[in-house]
Amino acid sequence: MLIYEGKGKKLYLTQEQGYIQAEFKDDLTAFNAQKRGEQKGKGELNCLISQALFELLESKGIATHYVKLIENHIMLCKKIEMIPLEVVVRNIATGSLTKRLGLEEGRSLPFALVEFYYKDDALGDPLLNDEHCLILGAVRDREVLQELREMGKRINEILSEFFISRDLVLVDFKLEFGFSEEGELLLADELSPDNLRLWDKHTGKKLDKDVFRQDLGDVKNAYEEVLHRIKGEGK
Ligand code: UDP
Repeated sequence: MLIYEGKGKKLYLTQEQGYIQAEFKDDLTAFNAQKRGEQKGKGELNCLISQALFELLESKGIATHYVKLIENHIMLCKKIEMIPLEVVVRNIATGSLTKRLGLEEGRSLPFALVEFYYKDDALGDPLLNDEHCLILGAVRDREVLQELREMGKRINEILSEFFISRDLVLVDFKLEFGFSEEGELLLADELSPDNLRLWDKHTGKKLDKDVFRQDLGDVKNAYEEVLHRIKGEGK
């Protein structure tokens, strides 16, 4: 039974209680869905990339909602109560950060920056400070925000180290979290070039959704290259 359809995925309830199936879609959206497109096979690539990265993170002690792959574009996940925040972690200034703060594009930040955005399309996903998060009731207390920050930084360390070994620079990314029925904080959603910015270490070539946002070329080629590099197959 379909319980939710978002921009990138459809979520289905399964016979097994406490689990959902996440089906990755081929649709592409950017700029709060003002720009739309479709790329056949993108859903499968994002699902396989997410699988590899969730498995990497689990092996390093990060608790995630990922259970197993069901089909190449469908993943079995734990059913969780989502926190309505986007946790963005940045290593290099680009995107909305350069626009908001006037920072030079491509500048390395002195430390990993963690930001919270409110998941609300009607408001355009506004940037929040800690008090905003509490006033909106997005989380129950400051401890949860602290835990989200720490998990964001730890995930950044693990993924940055992994990607650099594949000649990719992890520029920034967006995470979503939720609580399991047992009350455990789990990393959820997906980890794919739709929400991670990756630049080739040598050429600076963009291998993520900016290819779609900025019309830089073939989106599928870029995502395929990311999957090949993750699998250590070069290209
Ligand atoms: N991001 C995302 N979903 C969003 C907004 C941002 O996945 O709704 C990701 C984006 O792909 C990038 C990071 O979060 O890796 C930071 O995005 P930014 O705030 O620079 O926004 P953008 O430039 O995409 O508007």
